[in-house]
Amino acid sequence: MSILKVSRMGHPVLRQRTALIQPDEIGTASTQRLIDDMFDTMNDYAGIGLAAPQVYQDRRLFVAGVDDPDSTMQPVVMINPEIEVIDEGEEEDWEGCLSIPDIRGKVPRAKNIRVRFLDRYGNSQQFTASGFPARVIQHETDHLNGVLFVDRMKSFESLTFLEEYGRYWDSGSGSDG
Ligand code: ZN
Repeated sequence: MSILKVSRMGHPVLRQRTALIQPDEIGTASTQRLIDDMFDTMNDYAGIGLAAPQVYQDRRLFVAGVDDPDSTMQPVVMINPEIEVIDEGEEEDWEGCLSIPDIRGKVPRAKNIRVRFLDRYGNSQQFTASGFPARVIQHETDHLNGVLFVDRMKSFESLTFLEEYGRYWDSGSGSDG
């Protein structure tokens, strides 16, 4: 198990469109180790998602989810994800990011999406997601295109430090992605 260093806003690695992963790269020891290390890193930082550029990797891959049967976001690895927005529905909710520590902001996202991706065994998968898991998948897929959640905010009025977020906006601390 290795905890990787997480890149922070301002590092150019977070602003690049990442490279597609070829199917024959997925089964290699280095890709499988990267996936395991990304889960370890995400869990160590108590994040809800972690994309490859956040650990300095120029690859279209993210991990997300919590290993708890009650979690609405079950653990998943998505390689080369493609998102399709199912309908016009949008909702605004709080997001945080391990690459923008201690900051929260309200971000509009599509409510209902379909996502197609390869899993860690190289199998094609697709599913639909709504609400929170749809938000996490959109946040992580944005990272693969060099986009950060602050880019998606309609206004910076809701931009909040974590301490003030906890004091005025939510009793819990939420989750970063
Ligand atoms: Zn993020």
